[in-house]
Amino acid sequence: MDVRNGFLDSIGRTPLIRLNGPSALTGCEIYGKAEFLNPGGSVKDRAALAIVQDAIDRGQLRPGGTIVEGTAGNTGIGLALVANALGFRTVIVMPETQSQEKKDMLRLCGADLRLVPAVPFKDPGNYVHVSRRIAEELAATEPNGAIWANQFDNLANREGHRRTTGPEIYAQLDGKVDAFTCATGTGGTLAGIALALKERKPDVKIVLADPMGSALFSWKKTGELKAEGTSITEGIGQGRVTANLVDAPIDDAVQVTDEEALPIVFDLLKNEGLVLGGSSGINVGAAIKVARMLGPGHKIVTILCDGGSRYQSKLFNPAFLREKGLPVPDWLE
Ligand code: PMP
Repeated sequence: MDVRNGFLDSIGRTPLIRLNGPSALTGCEIYGKAEFLNPGGSVKDRAALAIVQDAIDRGQLRPGGTIVEGTAGNTGIGLALVANALGFRTVIVMPETQSQEKKDMLRLCGADLRLVPAVPFKDPGNYVHVSRRIAEELAATEPNGAIWANQFDNLANREGHRRTTGPEIYAQLDGKVDAFTCATGTGGTLAGIALALKERKPDVKIVLADPMGSALFSWKKTGELKAEGTSITEGIGQGRVTANLVDAPIDDAVQVTDEEALPIVFDLLKNEGLVLGGSSGINVGAAIKVARMLGPGHKIVTILCDGGSRYQSKLFNPAFLREKGLPVPDWLE
């Protein structure tokens, strides 16, 4: 059996799970990379470790220093845990609209949590800009210094996935992977895995999965950043081309609505025992669309980003779903 050397070594090397329902539905083999099994509970543990390790290697992060980041929550949880394991402090800036469970978890992990109103990126009060300003202040005043993790535009994020997640997927399927799809927040997961897979198998098809309210589907299809609609999913959707996404080898894009994604989340829980968050539903919905584009007999991989217990007050709350005009499954009532 696999024995890991402490928390940091427990990040990554996650199982690849064949999703039986989506595979039967399409005649393809659809697999989910079980990133919700990372010790901090999400795919973002990998980015957190890669960013912190890179800052240490560059001599930017000194013992006792502070890591500052703006995040939808999961990167903050990963950073706070990595910081605990290595003796750093964390200041986490998050839009107040994110789930209560993620806020509680961040405080539990010891992060200094600063909640800000959810405003667009072009507003100086956006959580990303607030976190940059706090990092600049602390870098000047803290005796041990501070860094801004800058997950959106820090290429250490996608390099972490290029070095670990991508090669793991390739090895787990003995190279027999026809397509990969996932949604993007920073784009680190999609771009890093795309780069790793294309290096090993140039004809692998890479498809960006986009929720409503995100501008990247239109960017890939027409070259223009344009968003329509909304989504209750957290951690995904983007209005700009981040540094992690620039020049990523992406072949195509699909759009997945909440109305398509949520029944998939519920089916995976009821029929397969997988308790997942909303972005995993968007990803599996996209994998089903890619399977239909390619036809039966193909192997398609996506990401199971985080677990559903992080969204009990939202995704799995009938009152919340009704308020958003989304269908409520009978068994949830
Ligand atoms: N799903 C969830 C739940 C997330 O928190 C994130 C990260 N914001 C993503 C997907 C997207 O990952 P990435 O930032 O690598 O694009």
